[in-house]
Amino acid sequence: MSVNLFDLSGRTALVTGSTRGLGNGFAEGLAAAGAAVVLNGRDPAAVSAAAASLRDKGHTVYEAPFDVTSEAAVEQAFADLDAAGVAVDILVNNAGIQLRKPMVELSLAEWQKVIDTNLTSAFLVGREAARRMIARGRGGKIINIGSLTSEVARATVAPYTAAKGGIKLLTRAMTAEWAEQGITVNAIGPGYIVTEMTQPLVDTPSFDNWVKQRTPARRWGRPADLAGTVVYLAAPASDFVNGQIIYVDGGMLSVL
Ligand code: NDP
Repeated sequence: MSVNLFDLSGRTALVTGSTRGLGNGFAEGLAAAGAAVVLNGRDPAAVSAAAASLRDKGHTVYEAPFDVTSEAAVEQAFADLDAAGVAVDILVNNAGIQLRKPMVELSLAEWQKVIDTNLTSAFLVGREAARRMIARGRGGKIINIGSLTSEVARATVAPYTAAKGGIKLLTRAMTAEWAEQGITVNAIGPGYIVTEMTQPLVDTPSFDNWVKQRTPARRWGRPADLAGTVVYLAAPASDFVNGQIIYVDGGMLSVL
């Protein structure tokens, strides 16, 4: 077995929504495996701060602040990367938001914002990345971030659930069109991981207890728990793995 199966030296990975939380953990994991990383988020100052922190650890980091829901901003960001000579070989479609509200109280604008940020963004950023991967002819890796709600529902998060279900099959649609070009497209479905997004749940004792009881591993996940899976899906080790979603959830989805 080649020792280089998990080596990302010479590759460049764009991770959307990587100023904090899971995205920041994905970027650090990919950088530790040898990749240069492109950090993203809407706030340029937050992108710069996250970049400085990774550079302090010796990693090569580029900054690309843009809104993943804006077609024009996504296209401009890739044009800027082209102009800077930065070629994205690995894309992690991670940026996402949550909105907890009963469906009968939900406005169309709220629904649309969650769908745009969690699903349409993966199409917009994935399309720009794939266009360039296909033109370069060297293949590539796209990793979409799903959720346990790619499989099962929970009350008060309807648009998020619809978006994450969509991520699972968008991953297969991308596979259908791009696998032949050497682009492997897969997804990760994280369980309950402590981040800014889930902090309100961690801070609610009844919910915190439910997560610990409901998860066979009896704990919340940490962003670092996802690093091995993202490196695997970005590396030569997964070159014949196409269209899959891997749940990293401490076993939650496997038991009643
Ligand atoms: P956080 O809220 O901690 O981080 C979200 C990141 O996305 C931030 O960097 C944020 O930066 C960025 N972001 C949000 N909106 C946009 C936008 N329109 N354009 C560009 N960047 C944006 O969330 P998590 O780390 O918890 O979640 C990351 C992903 O993992 C999401 O897709 C989420 O659905 C998924 N996930 C999380 C789970 C968990 O338990 N935490 C479980 C399952 C899935 P800024 O706001 O400055 O733009």
